[in-house]
Amino acid sequence: MSDRQLFLVFMLVPAAMTLDFRYHSNREIEHYLLQVNASNPDIAHLYSIGRSVAGQQLWVLALGLSPHRHTIGIPEFKYVANMHGNEVLGRELLLQLVSDLVRGYHGNESWAMQILNSTRVHFLPTMNPDGFDRADSDCHLSQGRFNHNGVDLNRNFPDAFADPPGQHDTDDDSGREAEQVRAVIGWLKTETFVLSANLHGGALVASYAYDNSGGELAGQASLTPDDDVFVHLAKVYSGNHASMHKGGRCADQGPFKDGITNGYQWYPLSGGMQDYNYVWAQCLEVTLEVSCCKFPPARELVPLWADNRRSLLAFIRQVHLGVKGRVLDGSGVAVRNAVVEVTGRRNMQPFTTNKHGEYYRLLLPGNYTFTVTYPGHEVLTETFFIPFGPKRNSALTHDFVLRRFATATGDPMLSTTWPSSSSPPPWTLAPLGTALALQRLIS
Ligand SMILES: [Zn+2]
Repeated sequence: MSDRQLFLVFMLVPAAMTLDFRYHSNREIEHYLLQVNASNPDIAHLYSIGRSVAGQQLWVLALGLSPHRHTIGIPEFKYVANMHGNEVLGRELLLQLVSDLVRGYHGNESWAMQILNSTRVHFLPTMNPDGFDRADSDCHLSQGRFNHNGVDLNRNFPDAFADPPGQHDTDDDSGREAEQVRAVIGWLKTETFVLSANLHGGALVASYAYDNSGGELAGQASLTPDDDVFVHLAKVYSGNHASMHKGGRCADQGPFKDGITNGYQWYPLSGGMQDYNYVWAQCLEVTLEVSCCKFPPARELVPLWADNRRSLLAFIRQVHLGVKGRVLDGSGVAVRNAVVEVTGRRNMQPFTTNKHGEYYRLLLPGNYTFTVTYPGHEVLTETFFIPFGPKRNSALTHDFVLRRFATATGDPMLSTTWPSSSSPPPWTLAPLGTALALQRLIS
């Protein structure tokens, strides 16, 4: 085949096969993702995070300039839909978003290029394909909500308050009945996600952590140390949505001021996915309730996509809030498990650097003081201004450079002074000297 023939063949292969506005079966979703993957090897990578109880693959499509692997400085973002099998709009929204981004990217449209040049975006269109297979199209009932074993996947994660960090072995997931929950927990250990949303239905609101609390807070909110950021994230979605920001659009839910709510204040729940993402995986996740009806009629898919498209795109760009960078040890080597804390934010589990020595910290514009701790090195404290990153498609980049202790007197692990306002660093929770135990605890 000549170069010209090859070129013509390439031009005839659609970058993303046309996606009609109707509900797609699990098999059709699989075929669609396989086709997008095959047609766009430059920006797409399809992988499975495991199987459902009934054996269906949990497919994830990653889009980005380096779709197969993480790139230093490029944040990882994810969208998860259909965790409740009968809440189905999210499945179609994510498929349309994939189609839109791929077509936009190959059409040299700046909005799509900016997103995929700066972010690796992962899509899990159905976390509960077995539930979907049993779902009926009722707007309110729960037929199909649960997985094949009758488990509500959004109640099956380790709970931040029932199993506080340090008392829960994150590798012991044997009690997790549902394959899907184990698959997602494993996924969160594989990739360092920074920002995420999981799409539900049955209301029209953006709900944020915490969903649970350490005590009885009747009618109150259960707020995280990053509440300002969560409120911003939720408002970005609701404010860009055609009607969510008006609150109270569903006759039986709300009203929600500005179309957002603290999860616990709406209704407390234990074992939810968003609290797990935040507390254990350092990933800020928002729960998006995208339709009053859990299973909207197919004829409404076009307007519902139009209602949500801008929100879905704007939300991805918030992955560039705040600051990112590496922590370098006394030899200039980027180190894993350095603790990077922000004064005034006492996270249950301190944020630590990933296996590449990177940290990502979503923060609104302002001055912040950071404290970085790592064994054998002096505690580093720095204060600096953080601008609004989404506008320029990048968080502020800032590397922390540590200084080794000048003299080795005794065990540096014991002579390190931890900031008194902070949670204990993770390695103090593990038997000292066993790197393996350390990794098990905080990976
Ligand atoms: Zn739901």
